[in-house]
Amino acid sequence: MSKELRQLTVHETRDALRDGGVTCQDITASYLERISAVDGKVNAYVDVWQDEAMAQAERIDKRFKAGESLPPLAGAPMALKDLICTAYGETTCCSKILEGYRSPFDGAVSTKLFDAGAVCLGKTNMDEFAMGSSCENSAIKVSRNPWNLDKVPGGSSGGSAAAVAADMCAYALGSDTGGSIREPAAFCGCVGLKPTYGRVSRYGLVAFASSLDQIGPMTKDVEDAALVMNVIAGQDPRDSTSAQVPVPDYTKALKKDLSGVTVGLPKEYFEESLNAEMRAKIQGAIETLKEAGAKTVEVSLPHTDYAVATYYVISTAEASANLARFDGVRYGRRAAGVRDTQELYVHSKSQGFGPEVQRRVLLGTYVLSSGYYDAYYLKAQKARQLIQSDFVEAFKQCDAIVAPATPTAAFSIGDKMADPLEMYLTDIYTISSNLAGIPAISVPCGLTDSKLPAGLEIMCPHFAEETVLRIAYAYEQTADTGMGRPPLN
Ligand code: GLN
Repeated sequence: MSKELRQLTVHETRDALRDGGVTCQDITASYLERISAVDGKVNAYVDVWQDEAMAQAERIDKRFKAGESLPPLAGAPMALKDLICTAYGETTCCSKILEGYRSPFDGAVSTKLFDAGAVCLGKTNMDEFAMGSSCENSAIKVSRNPWNLDKVPGGSSGGSAAAVAADMCAYALGSDTGGSIREPAAFCGCVGLKPTYGRVSRYGLVAFASSLDQIGPMTKDVEDAALVMNVIAGQDPRDSTSAQVPVPDYTKALKKDLSGVTVGLPKEYFEESLNAEMRAKIQGAIETLKEAGAKTVEVSLPHTDYAVATYYVISTAEASANLARFDGVRYGRRAAGVRDTQELYVHSKSQGFGPEVQRRVLLGTYVLSSGYYDAYYLKAQKARQLIQSDFVEAFKQCDAIVAPATPTAAFSIGDKMADPLEMYLTDIYTISSNLAGIPAISVPCGLTDSKLPAGLEIMCPHFAEETVLRIAYAYEQTADTGMGRPPLN
C-alpha cells in the first residue's frame, strides 16, 4: 500500500520531490489538511502557520522549478516546540507570562532549518517553560497521545512528539533538559535524539536550565534524525557553550550491522522501578541488537539513585535565575492596577507563572540562598560529578549504554498531577545523560500489551552521535516491531 504524502519520512519526501509529480505545496497542503482533521483531538499545535507554511512551500517550488538543486531538508514540513524563537508568529513557552510575545529574531536552529529549505507548519504545545513530563503543565491546552487519547503524549516536548506520531508534520524539534525529547518520543513511538551538550546552538532557545538544555530532532525514523542533525549541529559564536567540534555527515554512520560494537547494560536501570511489560520490550530489543552483531556486557552506574534529586536541585537553581527576567517589565504579561515596582513584579509573576513553574522557582531560590547553598546546590554539583564519572568508567567497557527510555509506557491524563514527585520519577532513565552532557536517543521498540509504544534508549560518550545513530539505525532495520501507525482517523 503506498503511503500518503503526510506519512512520508524526510528522506522519502525529498525523493518524491526529486522524482517530480508532487510539489512542496502538495505536501504542505496534505499536512495542513491532516492537522485540521485530527488536531482537534490531539491538541499538538498551539499555532498553525497555515498561510505562512504555504508561502514558504511556494518559494521552494519556485526555486526547484528554476533549476536550483534542492537543499537537504527541502519540502519536508516540520514543527517547532514553542520555546524556539521564530520571527514569524508567537513564541510563548506555553506560559501566560509570554502570552502574545513575538520574538524579534529567528533562533539559530530556526535559521538553519529555513536555510536548508524547511517549511514550518507551526509551533507545538509543551509543558510551561519545558517543566514537566506530560504536557499537562501547558497554560494553553493538554495534548493527547495519538495512540490512545486518554494517555499523555509525554513532555515537555509532547506536542512535537504527538505531531510527528500523528503525521501532522514530517519531523519536529524539541528541547531536552532532563528527558523532554526522549520521554515524549518514547511515549508516542517516534525517534528522539538529545545531542551532546554544546552540539547544537541554543541561541534563540528560551532557557530553562542552561547547563542541561539541548535542542534535538524528533523524527519518524533514524535516518531522518541524522539528516536533521546534519543541518542543526555546529558551533555558533552567539552561544558560548556551543562546541568547536567539526560536524560529520551523520548519514554516513548509518550501517546495518553492529560487528565490533559492545553495548553496556547498566544493572541499576533494570531494577524494580522498571515495569514488567517495559522490561520485556527492552529485553527483546537487546536480543535484536545481538542479532545485528553487537556484544553485550553488564556495566554499573552506581550513582543512578541520586540523579533525580541532583537534577531537581541544579535545574531549579538555574531556572530561578533564568526566569527572573520575566518580571512584567520587558516581556509579555504585565499585572494591572499595581502601586509600585515591587507589586508589579509580584503580581506579574504570580499571575503569569503556573503552579509548577512557581514551585520550581521557589525551590531553586531556596537551594541557592545563603545558608542552604552548600547543603544543596554545592552538594548537587558534587553528585553531578560522580554521575559523570560513572559514565566515564562505564564507557571504558563499552561503546554505548542501552536502557529503557522510561520506566512505564504513557500514563493516563491526570494520573500524576497530584504528586509532583511521581511525575519527576518518569525521567529516572533520561536525566543522567543530561547531567553528564552525553548524547542519547530513544528509538521505538514496539508496543506494550496495552498497545502503547515503548522506547529503547542508547547513550554514548560526548560527541559520539554517530555511534548513537549507527546503533539506533541497526536496531531499527533489524527489528520487526510491527508497530504500524497510531489508530487515529
Ligand atoms: N521532565 C523533566 C522536568 O520536568 C525534564 C524536562 C525537560 O527535559 N525539559 O524538568
